[in-house]
Amino acid sequence: LGVMEPVSKGRFTKAARNLARSRIGSAVSHMREASSLFRSFSWTYACPSLNSIQMSENIFSKILRGEIPCHRVYEDEAVLAFLDVNPLAPGHTLVIPKAAVATLDLLSDDSAAAIGRVLPRLARAVMAATGATDYNILQNNGASAHQAVFHVHFHIIPKFEGKGLGIVWQPLAVEPSQLTAIRERIAARAGAQAGKD
Ligand code: AMP
Repeated sequence: LGVMEPVSKGRFTKAARNLARSRIGSAVSHMREASSLFRSFSWTYACPSLNSIQMSENIFSKILRGEIPCHRVYEDEAVLAFLDVNPLAPGHTLVIPKAAVATLDLLSDDSAAAIGRVLPRLARAVMAATGATDYNILQNNGASAHQAVFHVHFHIIPKFEGKGLGIVWQPLAVEPSQLTAIRERIAARAGAQAGKD
């Protein structure tokens, strides 16, 4: 606020008070401007870096970078598979793309193809190694869908001797018209071939 000369016992001259008022007014106006800029700031565009920080900091990205160890069972240029450290059954294996995306819908066609190419082979290997004949493939997307690590992954979970994936399956009662309505909405977005039935 600059130098203000007290006249006596803490009182200020009129000029000093006016100067102070104008400086405070200007500071408040700058703060309002900054606050409005902050509010209009587009986090969507500003946050690819935040997204990439989350992606680069999750445990699977650290495994991919070799910063922490894993029990690797398979690797190629696009895919890594390793044992789950908290298995639901012996041989519980995770299959991940090397491309860092959080959920399946974000996966490129190339990464999806690379996963799809090896998943049946890895399932056969897990079954052969564990002696299981039944198994589940589990793939969670989003926290409410039980995803804990935000790097796409497929679980191969052998089912035997009471071990494996427990499923609570609660089908909804729906009218045929509801199925028709949702089918149309999905088919319209799924691509040319899907919408023809
Ligand atoms: P999800 O709930 O589908 O995200 O599953 C994540 C899985 O990753 C869980 O089954 C964890 O046990 C497993 N997991 C977490 N950290 C590691 C790790 N360092 N090595 C292997 N598996 C892990």
